[in-house]
Amino acid sequence: MVRILLFVILGYIAMRMLWRLLKGVFEGMGYQRPGGSHSSVGLVRDPVCGTFVVPSKALTSGSGSNTRYFCSEKCRLDYSGRG
Ligand SMILES: [Zn+2]
Repeated sequence: MVRILLFVILGYIAMRMLWRLLKGVFEGMGYQRPGGSHSSVGLVRDPVCGTFVVPSKALTSGSGSNTRYFCSEKCRLDYSGRG
C-alpha cells in the first residue's frame, strides 16, 4: 500500500517536472499566446468615444489612479459634464 502511494507521488512529481521543462522550452522559444487582451504598447482607452490613445499625447482629467485619457478636448468636456 505504501509502495503504491510512493509510486503515485513520484509519478506526480515527474509529471510536474516534465511540464515545467516543456513550459521552459516554450518560453525559451519566445512562445506567446496571440491576441492578448491587455495592450502591451501602453495605449489607454478614451472612456467617452472608446478611441485608444497614447497617454503621453492624450488630454487628461483627474490624477493618480483616477486619471482618464481623452482623444480630444470635446471628449474631456463631455466626460466632466457627465459628472
Ligand atoms: Zn474621444
